[in-house]
Amino acid sequence: MNQDISPGNRNASCQDDFDPNSISVNEAHRLISAIVSTVIETETIKIRHALNRTLASDVLSTVNVPPQTNSAMDGYGLKFDDLDAKKPSQLKIIGVAYAGKPFEGEISSGECIRIMTGAVVPESIDTVVMQEHTEVSSDILTILGHHNKGQNIRLYGEDLRIGEAALTKGTLLKPTDIGIIASLGIGSIQVYRRAKAAVFSTGDELKNIGETLEKGQIYDSNRYTLINLLENLGIEITDMGILRDDPDVIQKAFLTAKNSYDILITSGGVSVGDADYVKQTLDSLGEVSFWKIAMKPGRPLAVGKIGNTLFFGLPGNPVSTTVTFYQIVQPALRQLMGQNETSVPTLRMKSHSKLKKRPGRVEFQRGIVTQDENGEYCVKSTGNQGSHVLSSMNDANCFIILDEDCGNVEEGSYVEIQPFRGIIGL
Ligand code: AMP
Ligand code: MG
Repeated sequence: MNQDISPGNRNASCQDDFDPNSISVNEAHRLISAIVSTVIETETIKIRHALNRTLASDVLSTVNVPPQTNSAMDGYGLKFDDLDAKKPSQLKIIGVAYAGKPFEGEISSGECIRIMTGAVVPESIDTVVMQEHTEVSSDILTILGHHNKGQNIRLYGEDLRIGEAALTKGTLLKPTDIGIIASLGIGSIQVYRRAKAAVFSTGDELKNIGETLEKGQIYDSNRYTLINLLENLGIEITDMGILRDDPDVIQKAFLTAKNSYDILITSGGVSVGDADYVKQTLDSLGEVSFWKIAMKPGRPLAVGKIGNTLFFGLPGNPVSTTVTFYQIVQPALRQLMGQNETSVPTLRMKSHSKLKKRPGRVEFQRGIVTQDENGEYCVKSTGNQGSHVLSSMNDANCFIILDEDCGNVEEGSYVEIQPFRGIIGL
């Protein structure tokens, strides 16, 4: 992989977290984006099963939406020119138009029809007055108030015209996208096949659930976090378990995964510690780079290609694993899955905590968005930001993103946050 890492002119100092050999988060995105290949195989599926899949071709409208000009209100359909601007007008009611049961007659001057929401608007009328602005006595309608020509009418094709792209290739399908496809009378669509991932953990200290912990051992939690992070993205997962810190074992696992999966994700063993065999093994495979990313948590990261398989070796600390997944791996996976929207919006709000921060790296601190006593949204820190404290991540509902140059943040200052959950997705 061609690494274009430019350390710039700054020197490290004890005042900051700057490391001249590290690359910025944006640079990491750019370099990774250049090596990601999008899944090319597609499949045709029923729209009932299309949620969270990615469209592999544009969905073209087969009809005009709405297919006919129709009423937006329950009310009365009439000719605007019959209305007197200065006083209530009276018209004769000559029929009714229901949704799905049009009025077939002619409407002459001085006449109107009762019309329901969604009913076809006959050509001989041009305006609908909502029923709340009328009074009825036998078959005579009195129209009160001021009205505009064309009001309460939804025009034919105003939403979509035949042949227009209703949805574009690369759309990650949400419920209303599927509703739009259904509104066109389309029952099956072409999507990219699901991406396939393999996951393993490395570390002699790691044990599986159900095993007894000896001194110095811990349960492997990262694999469970990673598998579920991938599942959220609709990726098919193969669990390759825990691998000992042994170059032969690790090499074998890499060779098994090579070309059988779109993605291989591991955690642990990518820092410069003595037992970091992932690095040794991959160095010998030769297509992987080891980066220090100017971010906290999650500085070390291995990235590359093993054959056609995209590889991410994430740092082992549970918070680092999760943060690097969200910030670095997830956008790459969305690109790999063919999605055209990979970024997550951020918001600005007041911090109700003092935040400790040294310049030099972007920090993704964990925060909780709440409302203050005036109902205004603000963010608080989840407390201990140590990269081993997974509960700090779990209690959070957002990242507080503090950029590279930023130092300590005083209470009451504005910060940028990235919410974990929106109303639609995850
Ligand atoms: P490493 O990146 O291998 O140097 O690991 C850094 C820290 O993360 C160590 O304290 C490890 O014990 C811990 N760690 C590594 N892998 C896991 C895992 N799968 N689950 C929980 N903690 C882990
Ligand atoms: Mg380790």
